[in-house]
Amino acid sequence: MHTHSLRSDGTLAPADLVARAHAAGIDVLALTDHDVTDGIAEARTAAVQLGIELIAGVEISVTWRNQTLHILGLKVDIANPVLQQGLARLREFRQWRAVEIGRRLQKKRIEGAYEGAARFARGAIISRTHFARFLVEQGYVRGMQQAFKQFLLRGKPGHVPGQWASLDEAVSWIHAAGGQAAVAHPARYPLSAGKLRQLLGDFRDCGGDALEVISGSHSLEANRHFAGIAVEHGFSASAGSDYHGPEKTWMDLGRLPALPDACVPVWHGWK
Ligand code: AMP
Ligand code: MN
Ligand code: MN
Ligand code: MN
Repeated sequence: MHTHSLRSDGTLAPADLVARAHAAGIDVLALTDHDVTDGIAEARTAAVQLGIELIAGVEISVTWRNQTLHILGLKVDIANPVLQQGLARLREFRQWRAVEIGRRLQKKRIEGAYEGAARFARGAIISRTHFARFLVEQGYVRGMQQAFKQFLLRGKPGHVPGQWASLDEAVSWIHAAGGQAAVAHPARYPLSAGKLRQLLGDFRDCGGDALEVISGSHSLEANRHFAGIAVEHGFSASAGSDYHGPEKTWMDLGRLPALPDACVPVWHGWK
């Protein structure tokens, strides 16, 4: 229920992602690109040809109390104008931010970062992932992790603060489009137990539906922990690899552990 294509910061074309999912034995797959649904049509066509079910999704960038969060919209109607106007606003901020990241890196004597990131993005939205690939390519850093740590995370030279969607906006856009809202990879945010409780309370108050209990980027321990939290707080549970391509990422497609029996799957009740 959580994958990326080259329409955001993944490396596979939507049709190739679907083919790889099919080969991995997946029969229901959500494409959830960052702040964009451009890949859904191509993915859907490929899914129909291969006989697998494609769930239209999106991973929305949110700013909540100064913290960036990702909210998954699952089974959304991508034709919905409320959702699309919201996403368009985020992409405008993203484009401005990309230029600004380039400017800031230039001050650190890194030339052509914006153009380099745009080249990796190949006409799609520009993500920090594309800046990281450029920094690796040019030899400024040895790997993606170092690119983020040294240049792109909060407090580093290429980090640009700013406002994504509010939590309330993200959930309301998803609901306007008939979808379900899930907090993506909850273990990845640097939140204290108290802050996490506040987040879950705010998410519930906005009408949020689910937590991504099982994530390819979680430890098994974190999966277990958030399964308990979802049950305790009455959220349904989602599962996704957060696959970005065949290069080493969190996890390959089709390798996720099952949801614990106590969880109500977010897809419960889907036709
Ligand atoms: P953006 O939405 O442009 O701010 O970029 C966020 C994306 O960067 C995430 O979706 C991840 O794919 C990637 N990312 C974030 N932190 C890291 C990290 N420490 N190492 C590798 N990739 C990361
Ligand atoms: Mn990403
Ligand atoms: Mn994410
Ligand atoms: Mn993701």
